[in-house]
Amino acid sequence: MPQFFLGEEFLLATQLLVAFIGAYFMAFWLGLVFWTYKDIKARSRDAITHLLAVVLVVLFNLPGLLLYMLLRPQETLAERYERSLEEEAILHELDQRKLACPNCKRATQEDFLICPHCRIPLKRACPGCGRALNMAWRACPYCTAPVAGEEAPLQPVQTA
Ligand SMILES: [Zn+2]
Ligand SMILES: [Zn+2]
Repeated sequence: MPQFFLGEEFLLATQLLVAFIGAYFMAFWLGLVFWTYKDIKARSRDAITHLLAVVLVVLFNLPGLLLYMLLRPQETLAERYERSLEEEAILHELDQRKLACPNCKRATQEDFLICPHCRIPLKRACPGCGRALNMAWRACPYCTAPVAGEEAPLQPVQTA
């Protein structure tokens, strides 16, 4: 009789252990799926991509996760956004540099005739329409007025 009792207890313990291990792997598996879902959502806006990534891990578990890590987009959306901001800032800076005074390097604007800081001539006014023209141009592209051929002096005025 005690023998039988022991056997039943052993069986119960084994069942508990199996249930425990099963629950553990279930939780682990769910954790992986959840992590993958969060990760792909941070990397892609595409619902199909979300679904594919989750299905991959649901079906193949850990190997699926490894495969996902190999295939997932390199950058998160936040990283991509940050990079685009950086690129924009660089472009903006290049634009600024293009408009910088060749003499004092300070910021000027497209239609400035002289640099407001060091007074070096930057453009000349069209005699026809008054727009700011490139020093090298021989005619105004806006009103077709011919521009006098003589080069404007490029002597910077020193400001102490
Ligand atoms: Zn200047
Ligand atoms: Zn003109």
